[in-house]
Amino acid sequence: MASPGTLKYDTQPLYIAGAHHTTSQTFQDIDPSCDRPLADICKADKVTIDTAVEAGKRAFPSWSATPPMERSRILLKAVALLRERNDDLARVETHDTGKPFTETSTVDVVTGADVLEYYANLIASGGLNGETTQLRADAWIYTTKAPLGVCAGIGAWNYPIQIALWKSAPCLAAGNCMVYKPSEFTPLHALKLAEIYTEAGLPAGVFNVVQGAGDVGAMLTSHPGIAKVSFTGQVATGSKVASAAAAGMKYVTMELGGKSPCLILPDAELENAVNGAMMANFFSTGQVCTNGTRVFVPESLLPAFEKRLLEKMDDIRPGDLMDPNTNFGPLVSKVHCEKVTKYIHHGINVDKAKLLYGGLGKLSLPKGINGDGYWVKPTVFTNCTDSMLIASEEIFGPVMTILPYADNTPLYVDTLIKRANGTPMGLAAGVFTSNIDLAHRLVARLEAGITWVNTWGESPAEMPVGGWKMSGMGVENGRRGLQNWVQNKSTLVEMGGVVASVFEKVERAKL
Ligand code: NAD
Repeated sequence: MASPGTLKYDTQPLYIAGAHHTTSQTFQDIDPSCDRPLADICKADKVTIDTAVEAGKRAFPSWSATPPMERSRILLKAVALLRERNDDLARVETHDTGKPFTETSTVDVVTGADVLEYYANLIASGGLNGETTQLRADAWIYTTKAPLGVCAGIGAWNYPIQIALWKSAPCLAAGNCMVYKPSEFTPLHALKLAEIYTEAGLPAGVFNVVQGAGDVGAMLTSHPGIAKVSFTGQVATGSKVASAAAAGMKYVTMELGGKSPCLILPDAELENAVNGAMMANFFSTGQVCTNGTRVFVPESLLPAFEKRLLEKMDDIRPGDLMDPNTNFGPLVSKVHCEKVTKYIHHGINVDKAKLLYGGLGKLSLPKGINGDGYWVKPTVFTNCTDSMLIASEEIFGPVMTILPYADNTPLYVDTLIKRANGTPMGLAAGVFTSNIDLAHRLVARLEAGITWVNTWGESPAEMPVGGWKMSGMGVENGRRGLQNWVQNKSTLVEMGGVVASVFEKVERAKL
């Protein structure tokens, strides 16, 4: 624990049954920009998890029976509070994640609030309605949707408040209660969000927050009172969580990692393609799950692409995270910084890829900026091949790999698609081309749940997003996202009596 007065934030309690909940054990939250403690965080244990799940269970009968229109009003009030406090919340996210304020104040809180608004409006306009099927003249089927119960949300550290909102918004809108556990690296937003929900009128126990690392997440996942686990994180962790949830036959949504291909076609508009590749690799210091880290560039375009990319790399500006000019921050934690650095080292020394920009060594920061944080250089490798480690494993940092391809053979598109799909992951993919016909034909063949044409990264509330293959299960956002938080009940109604029963009395004489 740091000495009193040295931390930016007070000790953060948990939030259970509409109130702060303190525990005797704490862990420390670190400011990634300078490697200094930000806050002590109360850590949940088994008893606290039981208390949080019980709070959810107590709140569930009344919240699930609250008419959708009334639930919607409460959630919309929370949206208004989120927007009103955008900059305060964004500042907290900047301290916690190391992302520049230019980013957190325009993306993180905004895109989270958008999703809450989307689901609040959807449930008020029939989004939870079922279907009716006329089966025969005197029989029909109707379906209804019931909430699941108390659900667990387990978040990653790259978009803390956005992830908390992308999970809690459809969960609560559908009439469920939630126990949310943020990443132990970025815990600060969760208490603020819980307080906003309460201020908006959410009944006590509907949204609860517990804090801690993987052990706390595992306790939640295996808790018998939890009906569903919505998880965002690494593929390896997701596999463990899904297995544990399967033992209790719990519903799961898995939003996992990727190694997404960004396909530049020979006829792509160069400036747009370079901008797309930059967004797909350096936004948020490369810590975006859908990053297009495998950039396929045709040999015919390679020199021009690299030249323009190098010119644009100088527009990456690390610095004071609150400075409106800064667009590049440190990585989130020491352990993550070590991991990314190891990949860069491997790319140079083992894969022997050609280093076009960045690499190892200290990133040069403007005067007066503390360099003790987890800063790495934005890095570009070129002439990469598919089998290189840096081109096949998720790095989750600002490391672009350029994979040139021959575009002078008639079947080059087939080879390109095969290479693009040659990964166990399938989160995102994108195509840059002026030929819109070709774009759609390529998109149809890409094995990924999220695809873009001539752009990269936008993920609005209306768009269902989720990975294929090892990148996940289920989707978040859009109309489909709500269906992952309800269970279906089908009812067959017969007005003509039970037909053709084998149990009817048979008259012997007729036999
Ligand atoms: P992580 O898997 O290390 O941790 C994620 C969460 O799981 C944390 O809250 C952690 O405490 C918890 N956890 C760890 N072990 C657990 C266990 N055994 N049981 C239950 N919970 C456990 O992931 P991370 O490093 O925090 O996040 C980065 C990863 O998240 C990247 O792979 C990235 O691609 C992925 N991600 C995916 C999406 C998406 O929508 N697909 C979005 C953001 C991030």
